[in-house]
Amino acid sequence: MIVTRFAPSPTGYLHIGGARTALFNYVYARRHGGRFLLRIEDTDRARSTAEATQAILDGLDWLGLAPDEPPVFQSKNEARHAEVAEALIAAGAAYRCAMTQEEIEAERAKAREDGRAFRSLWRDKEAPADQPCALRFRTPDDGETVIEDAVQGRVAVANRQLDDLVLLRADGTPTYMLAVIADDHDMGVTHIIRGDDHLTNAVRQTLIYRALGWDVPAFAHVPLIHGPDGAKLSKRHGALGVDAYRKMGFLPEGLRNYLLRLGWAHGDQELFSDAEAIAAFDLEGLNKAPARLDFAKMESVNAHWMKQADDERLTGLFLDWLRTETGEAVDTVTADRIGRAMPILKGRAQTVAELDGQTRFIRMSRPLAIEGKSEKALTPEARERLQRLAKAIDSIAPWEEDPLHDALQHFVEDEGVGFGKIGQPLRAALTAGAPAPDIGQVLAILGREESLARIGDQAEA
Ligand code: GLU
Repeated sequence: MIVTRFAPSPTGYLHIGGARTALFNYVYARRHGGRFLLRIEDTDRARSTAEATQAILDGLDWLGLAPDEPPVFQSKNEARHAEVAEALIAAGAAYRCAMTQEEIEAERAKAREDGRAFRSLWRDKEAPADQPCALRFRTPDDGETVIEDAVQGRVAVANRQLDDLVLLRADGTPTYMLAVIADDHDMGVTHIIRGDDHLTNAVRQTLIYRALGWDVPAFAHVPLIHGPDGAKLSKRHGALGVDAYRKMGFLPEGLRNYLLRLGWAHGDQELFSDAEAIAAFDLEGLNKAPARLDFAKMESVNAHWMKQADDERLTGLFLDWLRTETGEAVDTVTADRIGRAMPILKGRAQTVAELDGQTRFIRMSRPLAIEGKSEKALTPEARERLQRLAKAIDSIAPWEEDPLHDALQHFVEDEGVGFGKIGQPLRAALTAGAPAPDIGQVLAILGREESLARIGDQAEA
């Protein structure tokens, strides 16, 4: 049984890189009929917040990456961590260290000079029982520790280059290194897919697993995401939190598809349904070189999923987006028109946010404020022609794109003019020059009453 996990520290939002890590773990577990677990690493009490935890849960939920079991909160496992620490002492693999901060710093400097890792002065002698002591791991002096990483390949580190790291602080609280091992073991984690900033930790952790006589999980350390300029992703590249992408109007399935391909490849396939992702995902396809965030590609992948999305769902998402991001609430008539237009408009917008511009002509209220080029198109002659047009089309039935198109065609033939002579002023009258689809579609979307009223507002006898 394959068990994967995502183990974020709840100190902010759900980072886009974290979301990708979660996705890889999720898809890998699904691929093998395993389980995907979530552990909130909240042992750093000062930096962990309930809001951040909620943001992570919400983000995963929105992305469709909810874990198979309720999240494990690392802080609740402290008694167990102490127990594992005791087991390490019993195995002779950990010792109490009474060094002061100054002594530690001096010793560190010396170790650096000697080109070796830090060793405590208390490594080979019993620390006094009445002094506050940290518990340190006794790293072997000889040999090397090797991991076979699914992405990075064989990674070997000489043990003398590995510090005697702290497992329990002097106040008895566990460090990340101890907690992560105990929890991964207790949760039955078999595969750890995470950022390659943890690669050297994996080597250290391997030593501790072995000292405990535990199976070492398989590792896959994925290069961190870089910005479009090739530098490590940071705030200056723009949005880092998943929620920001939701606000920008990305669909969860669009972001999921984009993140899947960010650092993982399967031939040259770009678009993956969830089923295709699960069928294809493997650790072999993970890239060794860092992937660069490409916003244009993110949008084009999202555009594909916009076209696939259910019209009613998309309408609901857009109306929610509009309300939360701009404060605009539309009436039911307008909402209905937007819903009817969605099959056409979703192909014209790369994101939910772009539906803002694409639906503006529907949301305008009469009389339309018409300026610039659109106003110029409404010459006295054009306004008279609009008057005749309104009469020519007011009884068209059904009020649908094709019959409306035919009627417009007949109208220009009767008038003996080119289509542009009516197309431009009509578009101005109906949309005030806002982005809009084909004019026959615009008439159909707005409906008979609204269309004739907007034409009437600009027409002159
Ligand atoms: N909590 C760690 C982090 O957010 C991840 C630990 C792990 O994946 O082993 O970086």
